[in-house]
Amino acid sequence: MLFLYTFTHNSLAMIQDKEAKIAIAAVTTAAKLCQQVRHSQAFPTLQKADTSPVTIADFGAQAVICQALSEAFPQDPVIAEEDASILIQPEFSAILGQITAQVQQLTPQISQEAVIQAINWGNAQIAPRYWTLDPIDGTKGFIRGDQYAIALALVENGTVKLGVMGCPALPSITDGTLGVIFVAVRGQGVGEISLSNGEFTPIQVNAFSDPKQLVRIESVESTHSDRSVQAILDQMLGWTQLPTSMDSQAKYSEIARGKADLYLRVLLPQFKTKKENIWDHAAGVIIVEEAGGKVSDLDGKPLDFSLGSKLSENRGILANNGIIHQQVLEMIAEIEKY
Ligand code: AMP
Ligand code: MG
Repeated sequence: MLFLYTFTHNSLAMIQDKEAKIAIAAVTTAAKLCQQVRHSQAFPTLQKADTSPVTIADFGAQAVICQALSEAFPQDPVIAEEDASILIQPEFSAILGQITAQVQQLTPQISQEAVIQAINWGNAQIAPRYWTLDPIDGTKGFIRGDQYAIALALVENGTVKLGVMGCPALPSITDGTLGVIFVAVRGQGVGEISLSNGEFTPIQVNAFSDPKQLVRIESVESTHSDRSVQAILDQMLGWTQLPTSMDSQAKYSEIARGKADLYLRVLLPQFKTKKENIWDHAAGVIIVEEAGGKVSDLDGKPLDFSLGSKLSENRGILANNGIIHQQVLEMIAEIEKY
């Protein structure tokens, strides 16, 4: 049973597809779960094998969304960030109990076994058509009380066809109330739905061409991108103002709605072999593109989502309002020579 806000966007053709409707309902339910956890007194955080944090909300959000996808699209593989192997160890039984309790607040009849099964539904392999999910992108932001995103995308033949990104802590563009869901459908546009009143507002990138007018956006975490490349680029473009910093893929959505204009992410030399995860970018890419912006790798090529769970051939990503894309790519090529 998915949690449904009384959205007022029903007349919009772009979100009438079954895929979009299910994805919006699932992300909305997961957003409610995440806020429920965030507003609780204290919530447990675990450390994964790679030392990154994961919370009961990450697992709960993945359970809710995978459950919905497995029922609506049983043939479609889902490639999601989390897996339940840690949760079935006896010492984590209390944590599993807390995750199940959170999911049960939205889906009362679900059992603990069904929660584990739903989380592991997200451990499939890619296929010509698949879904990719980051149940909480920016977990560090979620824990800190900053921005985070629930990012779901449908990929067909290596190209993102649908992106739904829930940002429960982001102010809406219309009235500033907290909580929006961005929805982009390939060839049909993009908009944000307010989580407080269900209104749908189409969005688009800024049309600025003067680099000095552009707002740059970057990760809060300084190790997620090579800032030495960015520093040289700033000089070349004559930027003196400080960038906006934000956790998660919400950065792409900020570009899509004209709150920022340029986002550069370059793998640090020490993380070059790590590579970016598909779920960290898929929803964001289509949201920027459908808003009139551009996203590419550092050679100007589209990101390739057909290679597995990683963007395995990628060394960096540039997203912006489209107007200065080529100019910035040429500057990056110059910087990379040294
Ligand atoms: P952001 O807040 O945009 O930096 O994105 C958070 C995402 O960064 C997480 O989901 C991680 O998968 C990813 N991440 C973690 N470490 C690195 C790294 N060294 N380089 C690039 N991305 C990373
Ligand atoms: Mg992530």
